[in-house]
Amino acid sequence: KLHNTILELKGNVRVFCRVRPLLPEDESSVLEEQPVLQYPNSAELLGRGIELVQSQGQKHEFTFDKVFGPEVGQQDVFVEISQLVQSALDGYKVCIFAYGQTGSGKTYTMLGNPDDLEQKGVIPRSLEQIFESSQVLSSQGWTFQIQASMLEIYNETIRDLLAPGSKNGTPSKQFSVKHDQNGSTSVSDLTVIEVTKWKEVSSLLRQAAQSRAVAKTAINEQSSRSHCVFTLRISGYNQGIDQQVSGVLNLIDLAGSERLSRTGSVGDRLKETQAINKSLASLGDVILAIANRDQHIPYRNSKLTYLLQPCLGGDSKTLMFVNVSPDARSANESLCSLRFAAKVN
Ligand code: ADP
Ligand code: MG
Repeated sequence: KLHNTILELKGNVRVFCRVRPLLPEDESSVLEEQPVLQYPNSAELLGRGIELVQSQGQKHEFTFDKVFGPEVGQQDVFVEISQLVQSALDGYKVCIFAYGQTGSGKTYTMLGNPDDLEQKGVIPRSLEQIFESSQVLSSQGWTFQIQASMLEIYNETIRDLLAPGSKNGTPSKQFSVKHDQNGSTSVSDLTVIEVTKWKEVSSLLRQAAQSRAVAKTAINEQSSRSHCVFTLRISGYNQGIDQQVSGVLNLIDLAGSERLSRTGSVGDRLKETQAINKSLASLGDVILAIANRDQHIPYRNSKLTYLLQPCLGGDSKTLMFVNVSPDARSANESLCSLRFAAKVN
């Protein structure tokens, strides 16, 4: 384990805030000539502070490990996390989350446009780096086995996004999560696929997207209401020095964090929103407990935290992106997201 430095100091939890650019569909970006969000100016791309100004003029200041303004591109964001990604090859368990309301840029951050050189996000860039590094390490006698799985947690139930036939929207079996004594997780019957190059992963991502899209017609807008967990298990062995490492990289696009009032939920939708709120709150509680180095960490309060338990806490590493939208209409939701993130930071 090589990168054992600064991250140790804070219970291995980091929070990065990312403000997406204004889009044509955003009605208004300014309130009485004042920007809703003030972030580092482009001269110093990567600052740490962000200020949110509400319509009544109240100011709220936050500090994170980093703040990326809207002009910061995918590559510049990745530079800041590439060491963390690399540590999965050194045997660490890593979780990278994207948190924020629907439309704030979570999927853009995690996935982006995977086939576009500039716009590809964390998942494609991480895989490229991991495949490249494993090639380099193979010249030093290492062999790696890299396995991918992808699942969705919707209303506290797990759906396998890589299951054969899931393309047809087949209702999935009941999955159960098990932890063994070695601290590894298994989800019963979950499809796990060995990958050796980016092309293979990109076809898996397409399959998963198709599977999500089908489900979406059955359950309205499911993708914004479910957590999507992409997991890479990396095992390396070096016969020459008889050394073995096994790391995990979890890349998680969380369900939209918007609250009840905005969606005006009733019936099933209400239940769904409550499930989302509960699991996001549980995630916050777990990360907060880790950051505080609490004795008891409440993993069991949601499927998501129970699933990720072996990769949250201990000497594993956690990074949360809090994504926010710059438009005035989103100010209240942005404030909630920033508060949530500031709590765990
Ligand atoms: P979410 O997944 O949180 O619902 P998306 O990632 O789908 O949000 O982003 C909403 C829209 O904003 C998309 O059209 C996306 O392409 C765009 N977008 C988000 N973040 C950025 C960014 N940093 N740069 C350019 N476009 C972005
Ligand atoms: Mg999304």
